[in-house]
Amino acid sequence: MKKVLVLEDEANIRSFVVINLRRSGYEPIEADCGEMALEQLRRHPDIRVALLDVMLPDIDGFEVCRRIRASNTRIGIIMLTARSQEMDKVTGLMTGADDYVTKPFSPAELTARIDALFRRTGGEQDAEDTGEIRQGPFRLNTRNRTLEKNGEHVRLTQIEFSIIKYFMDNPGKALSREDILNEVWGRDYFGELKIVDVNIRRLRIKIEDDPTMPAYITTVWGYGYKWGL
Ligand code: CA
Repeated sequence: MKKVLVLEDEANIRSFVVINLRRSGYEPIEADCGEMALEQLRRHPDIRVALLDVMLPDIDGFEVCRRIRASNTRIGIIMLTARSQEMDKVTGLMTGADDYVTKPFSPAELTARIDALFRRTGGEQDAEDTGEIRQGPFRLNTRNRTLEKNGEHVRLTQIEFSIIKYFMDNPGKALSREDILNEVWGRDYFGELKIVDVNIRRLRIKIEDDPTMPAYITTVWGYGYKWGL
């Protein structure tokens, strides 16, 4: 079964999400507070995607996200944010979330986002995968989905891995933000281009020698990004 953690303290929203997930073939695992969400993840290590509400009675959703990411980079994380939390989207993504959905959301929108993350976190393998890409100080292992820089492991989320892989497959080529969105999140993705920028910003912190003067992921103004060494 495709398990999805649903962390939401408002019972009516949670049951709305749960019913729609079941309808789409997922197995929802429910939690009504942050501590319970962490407990459910310990109990169900095969949960592949987590939906995290931000405003909770105990620890907030961003903190839950940070704690999950401290030990788990493979799980896909979607933050459920209210419109008034516009600024918090960025905070959420910087703490390691892959995506966010703004309330109120439609069941179709939520399911599309979850489907996209499932594809990305599934570790789908390319038939022509050689298993390794080496460029400059970087070594990307496409079987284990890991990255090393100068022989040191860089902890990446699945989305970050997919972005790096796309860059390494297209060295020196200017890639538009739409290209990156389509490749990494999928063509049926409903979200905004901003999510690309936020993920790139986080990626730069992880891989650049000096994130304020990016040398590997450079900005192509008004267009997108370019991978160069
Ligand atoms: Ca709430």
